[in-house]
Amino acid sequence: MKRRDFLTAAAVGAGTLTLSGCHRPEEKQDGTQVHINKGKKVTLKLATSWPAHFPIMGTGVDAFAKRCSEMSGGTLEIKVFAKNILVPAMQVFDACSAAQIDAFHSGVYYWKGKNLAFSIFGGMPLGLTSEEMITWLKYGGGYELWRELYGKFNLYPLIGGTTGPQMGGWFKKEIKSLADLKGLKMRIPGLGGEVMKKLGVNPVLLPAGEIYTALERGTIDATEWVGPALDSMMGFAKAAPYYYTGWHEPGSILELTFNKARWEKLSEEHKAIITEASKAMTGDMLQEFRYKNAKALAQLPKTVQIKTFPKEMMDAAKKALKEVLAEQSAQSPDFKRVLASYEAFYKLNKPWDDISTKNFLEIRG
Ligand code: CA
Repeated sequence: MKRRDFLTAAAVGAGTLTLSGCHRPEEKQDGTQVHINKGKKVTLKLATSWPAHFPIMGTGVDAFAKRCSEMSGGTLEIKVFAKNILVPAMQVFDACSAAQIDAFHSGVYYWKGKNLAFSIFGGMPLGLTSEEMITWLKYGGGYELWRELYGKFNLYPLIGGTTGPQMGGWFKKEIKSLADLKGLKMRIPGLGGEVMKKLGVNPVLLPAGEIYTALERGTIDATEWVGPALDSMMGFAKAAPYYYTGWHEPGSILELTFNKARWEKLSEEHKAIITEASKAMTGDMLQEFRYKNAKALAQLPKTVQIKTFPKEMMDAAKKALKEVLAEQSAQSPDFKRVLASYEAFYKLNKPWDDISTKNFLEIRG
């Protein structure tokens, strides 16, 4: 046999072996089941907590679904449903847990009523940035804890994008001291709201559609939302001219969560496609937020005054956050365990971040 013929035969042999390997009983060497797709079409229903094609967050999911279809050669169809079509926006967690839907796209901190610890997977005031959060989840043990705790609800979470740094919110009056916060009514959810409560603010929750009117009529004195790109669309600048820089959502993580039993029945290639498409969605969303925030900031009305909260307020917020974390740790062993993992990564990462990114941004000026 000539060398060239031998190589061809070997290649064909290897090919045959691989191919027959695919069609053997679907079992790994350790005995666990492996699901192979074999070109069968799978359709998954995914409900979101956003209006249809909501900018960046909603369009990010639309692009994710399209990418899954393209990467799978059309064998994986993810049907995206806007909020309240299949299930109410705030019931996607329960509906997915009960297998009424296959997946959902939402914000993790909405589910702190299920388990206090969940809010940490969505980010923390004065804490990790988007890139740091993703690093903690992927490499610092965060994903393992998230999947363990969501597993108890028959759910399997993936990172479903991230907002980058959010702004501190719109205020009708300037905040010159800590005392100026006393008695203010502010729309602010999550741990940021808990911290604000300790600073004398009355945090309120309002659906997106009601925030502008409440601010305009003075039913509330302030609101946070996201950043210039999405805030501009809400028209807050007309009702509250003081726009404060951020501290309470430095890197909020969105979730792309699947019913766990359904996830486990997916073929290996479909699981891989979803996993990779979710990573692409996360990167794209972060970059899209950055670009559109930069652009929208440049186009804010001239009447808007960008402000930074007084140092005494931020010092008080740091102290209040410690109290909130201690209280929630005392209430929930899961919160305490997740917080320990989060803080271990924070401690490991900070010296490197200080001498790399922070130092460079100061040099760059
Ligand atoms: Ca927000």
